[in-house]
Amino acid sequence: MASCLLPARADTVQRKLEAKWIADLTVASAGGTSIEVSALPHVMSEDFWRFTVLAVVKDFATMLRLNNPWYFYSLAIDDRVRPTYAAVDGRVLGVDTPHQGVLLIGDTMTRSLITLFRERSNGAAIAGSLAHELAHFYQFKNGPEANSTWWLSLLRDDGNITRRKAELHADFLAGWCLGQWSEKFMDYVGIDIVAKRLYSFGTMDDLDPNSHGTPEQRYAVTLRGYFLGKNETADAVQAAEQGRLFVNAIVPMRAEQ
Ligand SMILES: [Zn+2]
Repeated sequence: MASCLLPARADTVQRKLEAKWIADLTVASAGGTSIEVSALPHVMSEDFWRFTVLAVVKDFATMLRLNNPWYFYSLAIDDRVRPTYAAVDGRVLGVDTPHQGVLLIGDTMTRSLITLFRERSNGAAIAGSLAHELAHFYQFKNGPEANSTWWLSLLRDDGNITRRKAELHADFLAGWCLGQWSEKFMDYVGIDIVAKRLYSFGTMDDLDPNSHGTPEQRYAVTLRGYFLGKNETADAVQAAEQGRLFVNAIVPMRAEQ
């Protein structure tokens, strides 16, 4: 394997994860998947991890009510082989802290998300991508009905063929978080950078199981979520409901295609 050829960092620790679902990592992930990651003490630098990444994660976790009790465990990883941000519905083994999800934050992905704007580096896309992963935890934890999660309901909304509606719903909720957060960080430049960076990850293949929606759909849901958060609602439950309506309005139902 290529990964064996890369020199391991001195501070890398192999960690094993057991997962029910994994969002945003292209692996078979239904039912008891096990993956290994190379955990790092931090991404970028210790200060960046503590004062930027974890601070941002805490703000969004509070908005999405994932903080009391803390729902997930954050893990910095060496992702040189495959740049990764992912939300795992599962546990990292060998960790004492109780948790039901694992947030994987890759060092390479973090560096690649820094966007140059007017010759200055802008971290908006890092914040937007973290919000997207936390939105997946919201989908894993909550649901529109008592017996189903948002994640499963949105997979069903697309006939269980692709994940695109769950992904677009996560973009919508990420936009909503950024809108709620706007006094702190977001101006119109920031949301445009986020929407364009997510847009660049969109795909046109509507049968790919890992489809995240088309670039245009990602751009639209991110902006719609942003303005809902900024101007209209501070309630995550309402945002999740509005998000599903909007996603189902712009992505055709399978039977109608
Ligand atoms: Zn996702």
